[in-house]
Amino acid sequence: MDEKCIFCQIIAGKIKANMIYQDKSMTVFEDIRPVAPIHYLIVPNQHITSMNEITEENSGTLTAMLITARNIAKDKGISDEGYRLMINTGENGRQTVFHLHLHLIGGKKLLGRMAVNG
Ligand code: 5GP
Ligand code: ZN
Repeated sequence: MDEKCIFCQIIAGKIKANMIYQDKSMTVFEDIRPVAPIHYLIVPNQHITSMNEITEENSGTLTAMLITARNIAKDKGISDEGYRLMINTGENGRQTVFHLHLHLIGGKKLLGRMAVNG
């Protein structure tokens, strides 16, 4: 655990968040500034800074995060209408929290072309 990391503190229960799911490898909670009716963050319990730290050894966690996102989308009833999964990486990717996280965003029709401008 990185004491200065906000997501490590949420995972450890030291900072509150609206929890959706937790198991031995990951934690899922609501984004504090949702951009859609459903906006969850799927976060590995281990402090991995970004996609740049994914290796063959820890890539199983990433696969598990994707499967969990898919399962939660199904549980919340948005599988058929669709949703977006997103991992922002580094400065150009506009990553703001440097603990790897997968955004699960849905519950409305999102902007097209990934809304990358502006
Ligand atoms: P990024 O921009 O790094 O891809 O996403 C970071 C996300 O974390 C943002 O959408 C932001 O709203 C969310 N976030 C930042 N601080 C907190 C917090 O303290 N609690 C929760 N639940 N979400 C946070
Ligand atoms: Zn962390």
